Amino acid sequence: MSFGRGCAIIPSVQVNGTVLRSRTLFVRSKGDDAWQRVLHELQPATREAAEAGFLETRWYPFDLLIDISSTADRMLGEGDMALCREMGRHSCGITLTTIHRLLLKFGNIGHLVDRAATAWRTQFDTGEIVVHERSNDLYVFELRRIPTPHRAHCSAITGWMERAAELSGEDEFELEEKCRALGHGYCMWTFKRRPMGLEI
Ligand SMILES: [Zn+2]
Repeated sequence: MSFGRGCAIIPSVQVNGTVLRSRTLFVRSKGDDAWQRVLHELQPATREAAEAGFLETRWYPFDLLIDISSTADRMLGEGDMALCREMGRHSCGITLTTIHRLLLKFGNIGHLVDRAATAWRTQFDTGEIVVHERSNDLYVFELRRIPTPHRAHCSAITGWMERAAELSGEDEFELEEKCRALGHGYCMWTFKRRPMGLEI
């Protein structure tokens, strides 16, 4: 079988309308004129799509997500991606249904890492979350096959995982992040359980 070796086309990532709707809701929650302020600063193509309204049945270019997220971070936050992290936390609350929350109550961070991998496939048409380690004390997962990773997106993933860990009652984990957009070799998140009894 041949898989078209030598094909030089880099696949562009498409994002589901649900993710863009979630970002829009987040921005609107930041004040009466927040959405108008952000909308005004968006790239023309993003603004046009946003004004038409994002549909859950449609897929949109990844660039739109980056544009909305980083513009909001600049206009409504400090421009340091902290607001993008908050967007991920907000999105987590929407993604995790009541049933998932009940499962998380039993404190199983492994379940939420699996859940993140599944959620990825419903939200993006390219790329994948690969779980490398899944034990009681260590969870490692990597984001792969994204041609152009961006901090506005990876910060949101960090926020998503952070919030999911909180909802699961697993607050004794330390989170370490590597990101290609920061010059690291890969985008990877490591949850490590803090050693007991080391508080001074
Ligand atoms: Zn990254």
